[in-house]
Amino acid sequence: MSGQIIDGKRISDTIREEIKRETAELAARGIRPGLAVVLVGEDPASQVYVRNKAKACEDLGFYSEVHRLPADTSQENLLALIGRLNEQTGINGILVQLPLPKHIDEKAVIDAISVDKDVDGFHPVSVGNLTIGDDSLLPCTPAGVIELLKRTGNSPAGKHAVVIGRSNIVGKPVSLLLLRENATVTIAHSRTPDLPALARQADILVAAVGVPKLVKKDWVKPGAVVIDVGINRLETGKLCGDVDFDDVAQAAGWITPVPGGVGPMTITMLMSNTLKAAKRAHGIG
Ligand code: NAD
Repeated sequence: MSGQIIDGKRISDTIREEIKRETAELAARGIRPGLAVVLVGEDPASQVYVRNKAKACEDLGFYSEVHRLPADTSQENLLALIGRLNEQTGINGILVQLPLPKHIDEKAVIDAISVDKDVDGFHPVSVGNLTIGDDSLLPCTPAGVIELLKRTGNSPAGKHAVVIGRSNIVGKPVSLLLLRENATVTIAHSRTPDLPALARQADILVAAVGVPKLVKKDWVKPGAVVIDVGINRLETGKLCGDVDFDDVAQAAGWITPVPGGVGPMTITMLMSNTLKAAKRAHGIG
C-alpha cells in the first residue's frame, strides 16, 4: 500500500460542521432550510436512503418532511404533490427518491420540480446551467467528487482526468465539473477500446461504472488520484467499488475506499444544496 487514503467520512464531517455553523447563523435571522423527501413504494434500499436524509436534516438543524406514497400511486398524484411542494415557502429543496415504480415517467417527475428547489441537480435546466457554466444546484455525487479532490489538495486544474462511465447522474456531470475546474477530460465507457491504456494516461481517474473491481493496478499511472464512485454488493454481502482497492492502492498516489470514500459525500452535498437553495430563496449569497 503506497497510496494515501482519501477519507470521505472525515471530509464529509468537516463540511457538515461548516453547514451547521451557517445554519445556526441563518437561524438567528429567522431562516431555516427545509427539505422535502418523496418516497414512492417500499424499496428497502430507498427507505434507508430516505431515513438517512431525514436524519442528516435533523442533525444540521434543517426542517424536513418525508412523504411516503404507496407503490401504486398515480403519476397525477405524485405530480400534484410536487406542485404543492413547489409552492410551499418553508421547503427549499425537493428530492424524489429514485428509482420510481415503472408506471411513473421519471422524466416527467424531475421536470416538474421547480429549478430553484432542484437539490438533486437532475432538472434539465440545472443540467443546462452546469453545461454552460452558469451557477446552479450541482448533482450531489459529482459535486462530492470535486470536494474530495479540492480538500485533499488535488486541484484538477491542468490535470488529465479520465472518467469511466457516461451516465447522466455521475459520469457526464462529473466530467463537466472536472472541465469547469480546468482539467483536460476524457470520457470513457463500455464501447471504449483499450480502456486500461487510456486509464493509464490519467492523473485523475474516476470510475463510475458499476462493475466490481474493474480497475486494476496496471490501469493506473503511478501516483495518480483514483476516485471510486462505484457501489457494488458482492455475493458475500460485502460492498466493493469499481476499483480493486488493495491492488490499485499499490500504484495510486491517492485513493478513495468503498465504503467511506465518495459515498458519505452524497448526502452531505444534498444538505449543502438545500442550504444554498434556502439562502437564495432569501436573497442571500
Ligand atoms: P450506469 O449503469 O447508469 O452507468 C454506468 C456507465 O459505465 C455507463 O456509461 C457504461 O457505458 C459504463 N460501463 C459499463 N460497463 C463498462 C465497462 N466494462 N467498461 C467501461 N465502461 C463501462 O451507472 P451509474 O448510475 O453511473 O453508477 C455507476 C456506479 O456508481 C454504480 O456502482 C452505482 O451504484 C454507483 N453510484 C454511487 C453513488 C454514490 O453516492 N457513491 C451515486 C450514484 C451511483
